[in-house]
Amino acid sequence: MFENNVTRRGFVTGAAAVAGLAGLSTVAPGLAGADPKIHDQHTEEEIRAAEAGVLALKTFQKIDGTPVYYWRSNRGNTTARNWQATDAFYDALVAWIRDLRSLSSAYGSISYIVSAGFYVNKTGQHGAGTAMDLDHIRWSGGNTISPLDQAHASGTASVRKRYLATEAVCRRRFRYVLDGWYNAAHADHIHSDFGGMPVRAVKSSEADTKFVQAVCNNFRGSGLVVDGVWGTKTTTAFNGLKSALGVTGDPHSSTSVWQGMLSKIATKGFANQNI
Ligand SMILES: [Zn+2]
Repeated sequence: MFENNVTRRGFVTGAAAVAGLAGLSTVAPGLAGADPKIHDQHTEEEIRAAEAGVLALKTFQKIDGTPVYYWRSNRGNTTARNWQATDAFYDALVAWIRDLRSLSSAYGSISYIVSAGFYVNKTGQHGAGTAMDLDHIRWSGGNTISPLDQAHASGTASVRKRYLATEAVCRRRFRYVLDGWYNAAHADHIHSDFGGMPVRAVKSSEADTKFVQAVCNNFRGSGLVVDGVWGTKTTTAFNGLKSALGVTGDPHSSTSVWQGMLSKIATKGFANQNI
């Protein structure tokens, strides 16, 4: 529903200018170029929605007290940076980082996280201020996880488990989560957004299915092809995973069951344990 927000924002100025000009008896010299173009004909409702979207963006340098850095242009940079997201998305980020602190508490506190962006001036969830690209996390005990360094494809099993644990925590609060298994564009970050809420394990979702397949392979040696297609082998492996974790109920229809299962996966992953 927010796919075109950025475009609409771009039109607010033009449409407002046109509305202002409509009140003038004559158009001032030099403003002839302000003639409305066909794509500037947006409804009042669209303009109000765009303006509300702009007002709802909040600026933050930390999530619930934890600094968020940017390393894409300078690895290791600890300069405070102004990020933007909607209030509701920021609230979800707070819930997310509290989950993360709790589930990874054996690593110490979270020293900082690194992002490639929240609100970004483009279409889609980033343009709506309802997405996060996660590059890196550092804990006070010295542990890190670095999607930026393609940790999902690490040759070290404990690193892959930690990546999946981190992703599981993202999946507790965001339903569209795209990882290194999903496609090459996400090989160097974990994307999380507000699309398709509430959270559930959706069999028809390529991203959800690839996550489940990667978890079954990395925690249980299931040997599945990570193809995003939920077939009988994935069903069997997923039922084995559920059973081993002591999960009852339906993660496909119940948010709380799926969130509980994700917490158990995260606990195992941060502890570098098989399931
Ligand atoms: Zn993203």
